[in-house]
Amino acid sequence: MSEILQAWRKDLEFCKRCGLCMPICPTGIANDWYQSKTPRGRMLLLYGLVNSELKPTKTLAERLHTCTLCGYCAVKCPSGLKLDEIFIDARRALHSMGIKLPHLEEVSRRIKESGNPYDMPAEERFMWLDYGDEKPVFEGKAGLWVGCTLSYRRPETAANVYSLLRKLMNVALVKEETCCGAPFYLAGDLNGLEEQLLKAIKVVERLGYELLITPCPSCARAFTEYAEKLGLDRGFDVEYLPVFLYKLLNEGKVPELSLNGLKVAYHDPCEAGRHMNIFDEPRAVIKAVKGIELLEMNGNRLFSNCCGGGGLYIALDSAKAVAIAERRLKDLPRDVNALVTACPSCEVNLSIAVANVGIELEVLDVAEVWHRALSRLKS
Ligand code: SF4
Ligand code: SF4
Repeated sequence: MSEILQAWRKDLEFCKRCGLCMPICPTGIANDWYQSKTPRGRMLLLYGLVNSELKPTKTLAERLHTCTLCGYCAVKCPSGLKLDEIFIDARRALHSMGIKLPHLEEVSRRIKESGNPYDMPAEERFMWLDYGDEKPVFEGKAGLWVGCTLSYRRPETAANVYSLLRKLMNVALVKEETCCGAPFYLAGDLNGLEEQLLKAIKVVERLGYELLITPCPSCARAFTEYAEKLGLDRGFDVEYLPVFLYKLLNEGKVPELSLNGLKVAYHDPCEAGRHMNIFDEPRAVIKAVKGIELLEMNGNRLFSNCCGGGGLYIALDSAKAVAIAERRLKDLPRDVNALVTACPSCEVNLSIAVANVGIELEVLDVAEVWHRALSRLKS
């Protein structure tokens, strides 16, 4: 059995089978509590695997990927087990044993051939510029790393983020931007991650950027946490956009902003919240705009319910991933006009859910709140 999993043997044995991790699991709920699609079920499967009672099969791998890696189960576990870390390592172990799942193979092929997981042509990466008025600038010391999901799936948001940053500072686009490699990490393919992340780092370094700002928490984690795990050096700083905006605010570099009549709720993305411990900064950025009322969702911060957009689950079962987002909408406080978040994947999945449910609700990135306030200021 793989050494990667053996390292977790004690934790797998320590699981009390209490099931306290189960009621909050989004994929458990979406799959009608089918045991092997719940966190406790996954722990039992892995226990069987390390003890050679079970074989590493495609079905077992599929159960491990029926998970958004939201990390909520780890918050709930009274034994303090780091379930999401165990599950990501288990994905890595199964991948290293040659267990390949078709949806992961497809994501991998797309990134290798097109530089993004959506199979979109690389030359169309900056098509989102058509959604705004800003001219593309490709040279500078600070670069905006838009990320694949905003570039190809949320073009208007990408344009608003760029426009906001251009109004606040001298920021440029990274001409040869490509996938950061984060999907490989989620697939358990560390070789794929290393190859793609190194490619991305080299692009940024070659173009001479000293600072890279990204609105995507997955990209931010790839350039920092994953690069560190792999021992990859990078010659530039990385800032996750809501934190960067928060710093600008504290440095007094932002004009007074106001926007009347907007009542919003903030959804904590799992990647930013539970995985990066970023809870306060996005809220402070929203609250910096006078006239905005910020309400909390039922289930917030460390206890935020997942939107279904993470862990590549959407590539395995998009209908259930969207059903998770529809369920998340039930946590909204009454009478909000906008749901604000800080993760492109959340924005995509929640927008689909809003359209499916048929409610009047805007889904905005935190930066778009400032963009709107700043645009009104200048008009
Ligand atoms: S990480 Fe999230 S989706 Fe995965 S088992 Fe835990 S609660 Fe369920
Ligand atoms: S809450 Fe922790 S101890 Fe209980 S079943 Fe889940 S993983 Fe095991």
